[in-house]
Amino acid sequence: MSENKINRRDVCKTLLAFGGLTLGGLATKGQTTTPTPVPVIDVLQDQKLADAVKRGATMEEIAELRDPIANTPQEALRALKTGNARFFGGQARRPELSAAERRAQILGQTPFAVILGCSDSRVPTEIIYDQSLGSLFITRVAGNVVEMGTTGSIEYAVEHLKTSLVVVMGHEGCGAVKAALLPAEERARETPSIQALLNSIVPSISKIPKIRDEKAKLREAVVANVRQQVFNIKKQPAIQAAIAKNKIAVVGAFYEITSGAVDFFETDEDLRIAQTAYDSCDWRSHLA
Ligand SMILES: [Zn+2]
Repeated sequence: MSENKINRRDVCKTLLAFGGLTLGGLATKGQTTTPTPVPVIDVLQDQKLADAVKRGATMEEIAELRDPIANTPQEALRALKTGNARFFGGQARRPELSAAERRAQILGQTPFAVILGCSDSRVPTEIIYDQSLGSLFITRVAGNVVEMGTTGSIEYAVEHLKTSLVVVMGHEGCGAVKAALLPAEERARETPSIQALLNSIVPSISKIPKIRDEKAKLREAVVANVRQQVFNIKKQPAIQAAIAKNKIAVVGAFYEITSGAVDFFETDEDLRIAQTAYDSCDWRSHLA
C-alpha cells in the first residue's frame, strides 16, 4: 500500500471523528477496482483541514485552506484538460467537499473557469471535467448561444469573480444545432421562443460546406456555432478589455458524447469563422 493511501485513510478517520465529514477525491463511486491514487497535495490539504476542524477553526480560516485550482488562463485550461482526461479515462475522482468546506463556501466563490454549454442532459459540465462544488461558473442554454442572459453571466464571472478562462462548449449530437439546420418552414412550426433560440444559431451555421454525411455535417455545424459564439463573446467590451490585459482567455470546446473526451479550440486558426453579415449583438433583436 502506498504512503498516500495510508495518509488518506488516517485523514479520513480523523475527519469522521469530527462530524462525519467526507473527503474529496477519496470516493470512487461504482468502482470495485483499485481506487484512483490521490495526489499528495490533496492529502496534505485534507490533513490541514482535519487539523483546522480539530482546533475549532472559523469558516473564514477553513475557506482559506483550499488552495486555488488555477491562477492563470493557462492553468485553468490545464485543470479542465486533466479533469476531462480522468473522466474519459475512467479515473474520475468525483471530488466532493467536506461538510466543513461546504459550509465555508457561503463566504464566497472563486470558480477558475466560466463555461457556456448546452442544456443537453448528456453534457453535465462538472462531471465531464471532474470538478467539485465551487470550481466552475456555468451558464447553459440549448445550443450554447450568446444572448443577454449568458453574456451577463459570463461578464459577471470575469468582472466580479476574477475567473480567468471562458469556454464555449458545443457537443456531439446537439439537438438545437440539428434543428437549426432544418428548412425555415419546418422551424416555423416551433413555438416563438424556440424559433428565437434557433434563429440565434442559424447565422453561425449558414456558411458550413456541403457535407453528405449527416453526422459529419452536424459536427461541422456545432463547431461552426462554437467558433461564432466565441467571436460574439470576444466582441463584448468588458471581455475585450480583460483579454487586452491578459487577464482571461476565451476558447472553444467540443464534447464527444460517445467517448467522453473534449477537444479544445485555442488558437486563432482553430477559432477562425466563416465571414457572415451576422452581428454579434443580433441576439438583442431576437429578444425584441
Ligand atoms: Zn445541445
